[in-house]
Amino acid sequence: MAGMTASSAPHRHAVAAAPLSDWAYGPAPRRPTRQVRVGGVAVGGDAPVVVQSMTNTDTADVAATAKQVAELWRAGSELVRVTVNTPEAAAAVPRIVERLAMMGVEVPIIGDFHYNGHQLLAKEPACAEALAKYRINPGNVGFGKKKDLQFAQLIEFAIRYGKPVRIGANWGSLDQALAAQLMDENHRLPEPKDAAEVLREALIRSALDSAQRAVELGLPPERIILSAKVSGVQELIAVYRSLAMRSQFPLHLGLTEAGIGSKGIVASAAALAVLLQEGIGDTIRISLTPEPGQARTTEVVVAQELLQTMGLRAFTPMVTACPGCGRTTSTFFQELAKTVQEHVRAKMPEWKITHPGAENLTLAVMGCVVNGPGESRHANIGISLPGTGEAPAAPVFVDGEKTVTLRGDDIAREFLAIIDDYVERRYGRAQPG
Ligand code: SF4
Repeated sequence: MAGMTASSAPHRHAVAAAPLSDWAYGPAPRRPTRQVRVGGVAVGGDAPVVVQSMTNTDTADVAATAKQVAELWRAGSELVRVTVNTPEAAAAVPRIVERLAMMGVEVPIIGDFHYNGHQLLAKEPACAEALAKYRINPGNVGFGKKKDLQFAQLIEFAIRYGKPVRIGANWGSLDQALAAQLMDENHRLPEPKDAAEVLREALIRSALDSAQRAVELGLPPERIILSAKVSGVQELIAVYRSLAMRSQFPLHLGLTEAGIGSKGIVASAAALAVLLQEGIGDTIRISLTPEPGQARTTEVVVAQELLQTMGLRAFTPMVTACPGCGRTTSTFFQELAKTVQEHVRAKMPEWKITHPGAENLTLAVMGCVVNGPGESRHANIGISLPGTGEAPAAPVFVDGEKTVTLRGDDIAREFLAIIDDYVERRYGRAQPG
């Protein structure tokens, strides 16, 4: 965060270690919020934490945007946001929604507006109607005196078309007038606060004050979601803890500009996991910069895996695999772990409909007998491959019992068949109960 120096970094308080018996297991209860309906998807209240994503196509390109929205939806994104930045993009939105409906893709589309949203919605009523939610950045609605007027116009469109909004403040576009006002007030205090703390407060106030103004303009509180994104992990945690204490609006979590590759994934997971563990957060987006050639859907997979590994939701069977070591003689077990994960991920869209509950399946692919049989017994289905010097046999465990030993060149295919058979028996529609 700009303005934060080593000397102004947050104080570290000494915390006495609590006795082991005082540590509770699992996340804190979800923070109570109002529930907001975004199209057919509930956000907040007792709804599960919703996964969302954003396209990076030119929204004016109807075919490319619809294709990417469909890919994100198939990967598991429950809401998809598109930028609406030009008259062409606004005109394309209803056609994208129409095309998606023809493709059988039923995902609410959110419009992301900056600076000219009030004009675009006025010129394209079909866009205003087709979108399931409007994202409004209070730092980017307009300049000077026009800011309040244009914010009010956006809220009036939401009221007229019966849409919810996300009031999404962002560190990169902080409301400068509000920040300057709070800095001035701070300077007049007998003991001024740290500048970074004042700027965090400006971001939080930008979101909260804008939400209050939207309510005063007539938008029901049940149609407001808040976010206040920053790019630093500790800042994000501090900002959202404060937002959570000071409002009952559902919160959209995300580390903005998280970065590329493992850095983006780790930073997002580190920040969001702390908040989710505290019961804070009703919808999440992982703002990954895709690596060249990487699918946009990676951000959806990461969001799902974050929620699933924390035990908050289940989306797809999870594969436990050992890291491998000098005991493994080949890359076969790595390949098998990958094949199994890809197989169940590819099957899940179909299983979701035909075999509900299959997402809870646990699988283990282990490289040798050291931990292999033990870990395999803990999974619904596990396989322990032979390590260096071990007999060329791979025992398979189903619900803790060894059922078969696979040998030869066809182990992967036979193991996938065992998984499919188990899913059919346990989660198939014919299965009683
Ligand atoms: S299970 Fe075996 S191969 Fe895998 S990491 Fe442990 S010792 Fe190594």
